[in-house]
Parts: sequence; structure tokens; C-alpha cells
Amino acid sequence: MTEAIRTTCAYCGVGCGISATPTGPRSVTIKGDEQHPANGGRLCSKGTHLGETVGLTGRLLHPMIGNRRASWDKSLDLVAKKFRDTVDRFGPDSVAFYVSGQLLTEDYYVANKLMKGFIGTANIDTNSRLCMSSAVAGHNRAFGEDIVPASYDDLDEADLIVLVGSNTAWCHPIVYQRIQAARAERGTKLVVIDPRRTETCEGADLHLAVKPGTDVALMNGLLAWCDQEGVTDPAFIADHLNAPEGFWEHIRTGHDLWTTAKTCDIAPALLEQFYKLFAATARTVTLFSQGINQSIRGTDQVNTIINVHLATGRIGKPGAAPFSITGQPNAMGGREVGGLASTLAAHMDFAPENVERVGRFWAAPTMATKPGLKAVDLFRAINEGRIKALWVMATNPAVSLPDANRVREALEAVPFLVVSDIIADTDTSVHADVRLPAAGWGEKDGTVTNSDRTISRQRPFMALPGEAKPDWWIIKEVGRRMGWRNAFAYDRPADIWREHARLTAYQNDGARLLNLRAQATIGNDAYEAMEPFRWGGDKPFADGRFSTPDGKARLVLTKQMDLQEPLQQWPMTLNTGRYRDQWHTMTRTGLSAKLARHREEPLVEIHAEDAQELGIADGDLAQVSTAQGNSIFRVGLSDGQRRGEIFTPIHWTDQISTGGRTGLLPRPLVDPHSGQPGFKLTPARIEKVATEWKGFLILRGEQPARVPCLWATKVTVPGGALYEVAGNGDPARLEACLPKGDRVEAVDVSRGTRRVAIIKDGKLAGVLFVTRTGLLPSRDWLIGQLEAEEVGASVLAARGPSSQPDKGPTICVCFDIGLNQIVAAIRDQSLVDVPAIGKAIGAGTNCGSCRPALANILAQIPQETLHAAE
Ligand code: SF4
Repeated sequence: MTEAIRTTCAYCGVGCGISATPTGPRSVTIKGDEQHPANGGRLCSKGTHLGETVGLTGRLLHPMIGNRRASWDKSLDLVAKKFRDTVDRFGPDSVAFYVSGQLLTEDYYVANKLMKGFIGTANIDTNSRLCMSSAVAGHNRAFGEDIVPASYDDLDEADLIVLVGSNTAWCHPIVYQRIQAARAERGTKLVVIDPRRTETCEGADLHLAVKPGTDVALMNGLLAWCDQEGVTDPAFIADHLNAPEGFWEHIRTGHDLWTTAKTCDIAPALLEQFYKLFAATARTVTLFSQGINQSIRGTDQVNTIINVHLATGRIGKPGAAPFSITGQPNAMGGREVGGLASTLAAHMDFAPENVERVGRFWAAPTMATKPGLKAVDLFRAINEGRIKALWVMATNPAVSLPDANRVREALEAVPFLVVSDIIADTDTSVHADVRLPAAGWGEKDGTVTNSDRTISRQRPFMALPGEAKPDWWIIKEVGRRMGWRNAFAYDRPADIWREHARLTAYQNDGARLLNLRAQATIGNDAYEAMEPFRWGGDKPFADGRFSTPDGKARLVLTKQMDLQEPLQQWPMTLNTGRYRDQWHTMTRTGLSAKLARHREEPLVEIHAEDAQELGIADGDLAQVSTAQGNSIFRVGLSDGQRRGEIFTPIHWTDQISTGGRTGLLPRPLVDPHSGQPGFKLTPARIEKVATEWKGFLILRGEQPARVPCLWATKVTVPGGALYEVAGNGDPARLEACLPKGDRVEAVDVSRGTRRVAIIKDGKLAGVLFVTRTGLLPSRDWLIGQLEAEEVGASVLAARGPSSQPDKGPTICVCFDIGLNQIVAAIRDQSLVDVPAIGKAIGAGTNCGSCRPALANILAQIPQETLHAAE
């Protein structure tokens, strides 16, 4: 048996350790790494099913120039020449890199060095801009350095955890499980502040469903309350903080409980409950995420949270800290090397002495001397003709940036576009002049930093497929071909790591907490064997000294932004976010049939009363329109939505949907300090879409690039793919999507129903079911037939002789247990809590990601009905 390799999860910023045991060239058994401090052996559903995503489906395996395969030499020469020529002709600011929190720290370092020290511009930005740049800006304003002053251990030590703008149960499940463990073991209180009632709120002590965009008022009100109740720490304020003129007058004016409750649109009694709890609990962690960061006032929102912690002295102490939790696996590593357009390198900004210092360290010929273009501005600059060559690494801006249709125009318009990625065809790479095959998770070698500053190794356990190469290698080869052979003479990731560590320590007299001096001279073996470690110590700022010139932290005066009343044309507010079992644009999680079961379509969630007023029913299709464009979603009624607000997921792309993308809807408006887009608050409209027919396609093997109808969405199923489809006109054109083979067909003219199955060599190759007025059968049995040895014409009945009752939507993906099965078990066996459900049917006993959903289901079944069943 092959030895297990200790590595790190590919997905979120929790940064869980993984033990990967290869079982073949492209197969692996995944387990949680029990020794890793971030997860202690636990994994969520995404991490648990990583083994299903390491196949080669859709991989880019060779360099491509246009649509022709090319050699690495030719491709790299072309990229180097085009960038060199563009810089010579139009200057360094005419080129740009758009990179990703998926890159390892070593990849990031080489890209940042090439751009900022050698090409001579800071036009390198990252998709982390969309995720946590407001936290970076907030930390810099308050602490003088981008430090997360917390660790996961604080969650174990807190008496109160406040989650603000974070659906932790879905987006950072292992952190959520740690919070739940603290609640069970030591009675830690949990408050959730979120306009939506998500699964994170299940069982919380308090949920404040505030009006979106009112976090500044809420937190300033909290500080006013603490001030009034004598909960602030005068000695800490006097010795360790600077406040701008008028700060306290501002806090003491107009932030009373009643005014704040009105602004936030919540009951004063609820707000008072929260304020009293916060005031009474010294050990408080306030954990925040995209709901705070992804706002046009994101940085102010971050600083209002930090203000409260600073003024109450709740920082640098056990169980007391503001805690920004990041979305991506290495957003933090990118911040450390300086891979944002707004920072230079190693936590240094563009102050002349820093430019001079870094230039000396790199022996750089052409240092960038000012910040570069941040993501949204970068793509705007392309549309304005100011950027002539762009290199996109490991990200999909055609889907993920706001106003994504304009981004597509930019990708089409830029004179030279390079995309390095693991996937051959993404919504971005279809526009590329050159595509370079990059290493994927399981092949990469380097380090990542998670949300609590723990640096871990990502280690390879599979060979690079085809001609794929690590990102650091691709970038350094371009640097060498541009003429800087010595500066980019790296043979291995350890060379880059040591140089990065040396730079963090270079002339660092303590002004920067980021100092990896001890790593600067480690050998290759020590790098290989590196154990996870947290830089900056367990309790940064424990001595009350911050990274500002005078050592004092800064309180920042913030004002609640004016929120416009909804316009007649755009009466709703659109919020966007993630699903529990999908990651970004689904290029990897989309390969897992198990993960697809949790949500098989993108839903627009809407309050039932809003839907009723608009004549929309659960399960209808509805078009969501904004000033930027429109998309169609399946309607899901949700009493977790506030009235007037709707929610759509970010994951579906043009590769896996027709007309069902979210990315094109949000406005390209950004926070003035961080440049982070405000994804959470877009004026929108929603209306029912009436189609003449609806249906589904199930296909084995090769799948069409695009389904020709008004609306279609695709997910992976065992042995193939399932498409939900709807449209107008003759649905017969969908038959072009079916493979060749023996055809069986059933038509019911009265219902306008057509069922077609294609059978090849006795096996089911594809089905198309459409109906104009009738109902469609459950897809589950038909999907099961894709892997059956023999099928016949009876497949059109869509159920077999021993078909089980419909399981309903999958809740527990690990054991494939559906809603109907869980409800039946609860009723039949009078189950009263989540452990009892686990004991009875297994749900929730593996990764645990579905436990909040199980609690939610339990809460919706009246206890009396259980007793009646006893
Ligand atoms: Fe991966 Fe889940 Fe851990 Fe995030 S919480 S790092 S997705 S296993």
C-alpha cells in the first residue's frame, strides 16, 4: 500500500490538513489529517469528496496557441515576446496579471516579483480582491499591518462568538463544527448577524436579521452602548489607541438603541439583548466574512468591528479578538507576498523607503513605485484600451467578477490574453490567445496560509498529467525569457520559499510582524518535512503594541452610508453567495456526483409573501434582472429571506448552464479603500418566466457544449450528467444533444409529453423527457440506469419493478440520504435530536456538514406529531 501524504485541502480558508493515500495513477483515498491544528482530522463534505475531483475530465494537458497544440518552448517564447514588446511599446502599465487565491505562496511570490520588480508595474491583482481585500484595508488602517489578530484556538476559549455576514455552516464548515463543539462543551453563546436566516442560525442564541448594509450603524451602536455602560477600557484606550478628532462625539451622537434598531430594521428588544450579551462577555470573538467585506463600505464595516474590540480591550487576549475568515485556500499567502495591486511585498506598501528596500533585495531593474489597478478597475482599463496584454492565472473572471458581461468584452478586446489553468475550456479561457496547462491540486508543491495565519505544506501525491507544469515554473520561465535569467533561477519551490522568508526578515527591525527569519535558511529536507506553524505568534498584539509608527492602534471614524429606498424599476435587493457543497465556478466540485446532490440547480430564494404578490410559485422559473443583465433561476421559497430581498448562488457558468449565471448581475461598484466589489446589495427585479415546456436530459459519456433552449443547468451524476431544461417552441431541437443509438419513444399528445431514450449496446446512453402540461418523474431511477448492465424500452416508465419511494432532495451527501427519508425516520422513530437521527439512519455522522440542515428539519416538524406517533 502506498504511503499517505500529508497535504492541505484545496478549497476554503479554514485550511484543513488532509491525509491523501494514492490508490492508482489518478485515484486517491482522502482522510482528515488528525495532526493538523486547523481540523484535527475532521473534513467537511467538499474536503471529504476531493478524491472524486482528481480525474482528468476537462483538463488542459498541453500548451495551446489559439486552438492548436504547441510546444512549451514556443508558447513561453511567445508569451515573453508579447509582454516584452508591449512593455517596450506602451510602457509597463500596459500589461497586467490577474491571479488567484488558488495559487500557492511560491507561485504568488514569483508572479509578484516579476511584475513589481522587473516588468515595473503593480498591475497584478488577484481574485482575493473579491473576497477579503476590505479586511486587508481595515487591518492596515487599524493595526498598521495586515494582521488577523486571532486563531482558531480563540474559538475554543471564547464565551461569546458573534458571526457577522458569515454563513459559516456552509462556507467554513469545520470552523462551524468547532464553534458547535465549544457551545456543547463550555456553553459558549452564539449570535448570528445576517439578513438571511441561514443554516448557521440554526440553534443560535440570537439571530439579528438586519437590513443589508447597516453593519456600520449596528457596530457603532454597540460601541455607544459599551461606552454608556462603562464597558470600554479607558486604560487600554489611553495607552494603546489613537482616536481621530471627534471620534467619541460621533459615537455618542445618534447611535442610541432606538435609532440604531430603526436603521437596522430590527426590534429594539433583540438589539438590546445582543448589546447586553456583548457588554457582559469579555471573552468575545467577532468572526466576519463576505457579508462584511463584499460591500461598497466594506472597509468601514471591518473597522467598526475592530473599533469595538479595540475600545473594549478585547484583543490579544485568550478568546477575545476580531477575526476575519478568508474564502480561499491561500488568500492569506497572497497577502503575505504582496500579490495585491495595493501592496508591494512582504507587508510593505509603496512608501519610497520600501520600494528602495525591496528593489535592493531583488536587485530589481524597474521597480513599481505606486499601486496598480485593482480587479474591477483593471478590467475597466482593458475596455478603455489601456491594458494591451493580460495573463490570467487559475481564475475565471468571466464568471466571478461583477458585471461579468463587460468583463467578457474586455477578455475579447484585450490584444493578447494568456490563461494558465488546469481546465481546458472555461468561460475565460475561450477568449485566450495562449493557454498554458498548470498543475492541479494533488500535483502542486508548496505552501499555503489559512485564515488564522497557519502555514502548511501542499504536497504532491500524483504525477503531473500530460505536459502540465507548476505555476511557479511557468512564470519563472517567462521571466527568464524576458531577459532576467538570474533573478528567476529557481529549481524548486524551496528556493522560492527561502527567498520569500528572507525578504520578510530583510531590514525588518520589528516594524513588521510578518517575519519568517527562521525559515530563511531551512534546507530542502526541512522544507519537505515542514509541519504546520502559525506566524506572528498565538496572540499578536498581546503586549498592546501595534505595527504603526507610534505602536498604537487606530480607531477609525465610520459613518453609516445612506441606503436608498428601492426604486420602482428595481424593487428588490439581490444578495449572492455560496452553496454548501460547491466551490466557486464548479470546475472541480462540479466533477463530483455526490456533491451535486445537495443542490442540483441554482435557486433564486425569495420570501413566500413577495413571491405570492408577484404571482410566482415554488419551483417556477423566474428571471432576475438588474441594470447589468438578467439570468433565469428555479424559484425556491424561503422564510429565511427578508421581504424585498432575493438570493442567488455564484457557481453556475456558461459551461454548465444556459442563461443561469449570477456573475453578470451585480454592479461593478467598489469600496473606495479596498476596491472590493459590493456583491451583496444590487437593486434588482424578479418576474416569473412562463415557458411552453420543461424537461430534463440525462446523458452518458460525451456531453454537448451548449443545450439549445431558453434555460438549462447541468450537474454531474454517477455515469454522466443531468440537465434541467425549459423553453419555448419545438423541444425536438434538444434531440440534437442525444447520442446515436437505438431509439425508443413514447408520446402523450394530450399532455404534450415526449419521452425518448437512446440505447447503445444494451446500455442507456441518454434520455430526453419533456412535457407541456404534465408532471415529470423523479430523475433518480433513470440516473441509476446509466450504470445498469442492460436496459430496454421499459426505461421510459422511469421506474423499475422494485423502485424505492422518492428520497427527496439529498441532505446527507456522504450517505446519500434524502429529505423524505429523514422526515420519515423522524416521524416513524420519534427522533428528537440530530444525534438520534445519526444513530437511526447514519445522516450527519461522517463529515457533519449536514448537521445544521438536520436540526433545521427537526425544528420544522412539530414535536406533538412525534409524540402522536409514539
Ligand atoms: Fe476544505 Fe471543508 Fe476544511 Fe474548508 S472546511 S478547508 S472546504 S475540508
